[in-house]
Amino acid sequence: MEYPVIDFHVHLVDYDWYRPWVVEWIQEFMEEDFEGVREKYSDPKAFVTLMDEYGVDYSVVMAEQSPITTGIAGNEKVGRFCAASPRLIPFCTINPHLEADPARSLERLVDEFGFRGIKLYPTYNHFYPNAPELYPLYGRAQDLGLVVMVHTGSSIFKGSRIKYGDPVYLDDVAVDFPELKILLVHSGRGFWYDRAFFLARLHPNVYMEISGLPPKKLLTYFPEFERNAEKIIFGSDWPGLFDVKGNLEAIRKLEISDRAKGLILGGNAARVLGLG
Ligand SMILES: [Zn+2]
Repeated sequence: MEYPVIDFHVHLVDYDWYRPWVVEWIQEFMEEDFEGVREKYSDPKAFVTLMDEYGVDYSVVMAEQSPITTGIAGNEKVGRFCAASPRLIPFCTINPHLEADPARSLERLVDEFGFRGIKLYPTYNHFYPNAPELYPLYGRAQDLGLVVMVHTGSSIFKGSRIKYGDPVYLDDVAVDFPELKILLVHSGRGFWYDRAFFLARLHPNVYMEISGLPPKKLLTYFPEFERNAEKIIFGSDWPGLFDVKGNLEAIRKLEISDRAKGLILGGNAARVLGLG
């Protein structure tokens, strides 16, 4: 069975604004001049051409509202960007500190821009993902058939608080919203790999997303990696990781079955997103 290649973790490069340390960090590993890259890929057509170079069929593009730690990539901006191609799948964001009625805001965003899911950033915005005030949002997302991505584990950006990134808080959400598909973004990066793996094994509606993890380390972090092949989803974290092609090649070289590789690089994502 041939699956598409789906990158489930792409940021806009052209944020509304960044905290200065974010730009410094990206520029450190990026050979090209960041401002040039930013200008070039503010055009979605240029980004789709880049996807072709990488060998990626679909990208999930996420909004972000993390004013304390990283910056703002507004929902409207992401919605407009993704309207340029059916290969760009828009995910909105809700920062619970900035919304009076998160569930209602979500409904409006989905109506207006056709968002297919939500990205939440607990470590950047300082909330627990099982906070009661988020429950109406999860309920609405479940009713609308949306996917919820939640950052788990560490972040290098100033002001992040790792305690909010413990995947175990998503256990409550998985139990209380059994039809809601939940992605543990970065799979608990740092010291919670075992928790992320276990939760994805335990709950039919929980998945591990592996962006930001070096492919060569995957079998070390997750000794039984292949046992969870149907619950693992590839993401790059572009432009934080710019060499998506190299990343994909490294995953294809792992000592796991071709079936597992196909599922991880796109088969599972296609199922979660309901793509043909
Ligand atoms: Zn990211």
